Amino acid sequence: MSEKILLTADPGAGFRAHADELRVAVERVLTSGYYILGPEVEAFEAEFSAYQGGGHTVGVANGTEAIELALRAVGVRAGDGVATVANTVSATISAIEQIGARPVFVEIDPATMLMSPAALAETLTQSAVPVRAVVPVHLYGQPADLGAICAQAQARGIPVVEDCAQAHGARWAGRRVGTWGAAAAFSFYPTKNLGALGDGGAVFSGDAAVAERVRRLRQYGWRQRYLSEEPGRNSRLDELQAAILRVKLRHLDAENAHRARLAARYCAAARSLPGLVWPTVATPAEHVWHQFVVRTPKRDALVEFLSARGIRAGVLYPVPAHRQPAYAQAISLPATERACAEVLSLPCHPGLTEVDVDRVLAALKEWPTP
Ligand SMILES: *Cc1c(COP(=O)(O)O)cnc(C)c1O
Repeated sequence: MSEKILLTADPGAGFRAHADELRVAVERVLTSGYYILGPEVEAFEAEFSAYQGGGHTVGVANGTEAIELALRAVGVRAGDGVATVANTVSATISAIEQIGARPVFVEIDPATMLMSPAALAETLTQSAVPVRAVVPVHLYGQPADLGAICAQAQARGIPVVEDCAQAHGARWAGRRVGTWGAAAAFSFYPTKNLGALGDGGAVFSGDAAVAERVRRLRQYGWRQRYLSEEPGRNSRLDELQAAILRVKLRHLDAENAHRARLAARYCAAARSLPGLVWPTVATPAEHVWHQFVVRTPKRDALVEFLSARGIRAGVLYPVPAHRQPAYAQAISLPATERACAEVLSLPCHPGLTEVDVDRVLAALKEWPTP
């Protein structure tokens, strides 16, 4: 008997689950004659804003440019420092570098692996490069401590731009991520909780002026057609992806609830698997389980052990930003470095069942921990 391979993300399953609705949406765009920034993008922007509980959404080409344009829109310029974490995908750092700004790395809380408010306080007072924005990353689907982070930034008049690429629908203290900062960036890369079938992203802001500025920046700095008010670029969302995202958005809460059920099943087995460190969820956080991440110093051996049993554990991310050749900094972030050496993601997405989770747990129980 050949068992199915369990993946950490499965965009194909995400398509098949809603294939009929998606085909209708795609057909509607094909026959409409509008393919870039048309009625589907406008409708998606309105629907995503409503999902966020009000505010403004601007569709852009991808999550990386969403971060970049959000930072530009809140006033970040070349030479400015942008405080963020190093245990993130290169995209977060790339967005900062595109502006000519400089990433200033903040240590994480070792329990949640998210930006430490205490470390942020230190960075904001001690950084050699003046920090002009703070970018917390809601890694794995869990909000960073937005209450403490926003309070500290606000006390110094520094805007917060939330990297929400892994946390669509998550809440901190009952309020959606993306609504806490001056602006927020979302990615709709196919593996994300809200995924398109191609590239896509959005900037969300409660501030109409910030959103208006992003609207200009995403299309040549145009205020109106053919009139560039400021230097801009092309970072447009297309109609096909917007139509697809409108379908996917209707299923986001149900799919996040499915992820939470799988995560609960994993967590219920934690006591019988003491060789692993299990996820810590901060009390006011509503986690959306983009990744279900456990830790062990024997990470690479466990990844291999699971792979031999048809279980593909992911590693997000093996090399912290300050150790990447492109962004290397001679600093030490012990908690960050340790997390990057120990994390692995167990399969946890809406295409899986509790039976699949039980198969992963059974494999983990066979793992010969010392
Ligand atoms: C996916 C991701 C991004 C980048 O999004 P793209 O759409 O791939 O450009 C940025 N930050 C985080 C944390 C991500 O997971």
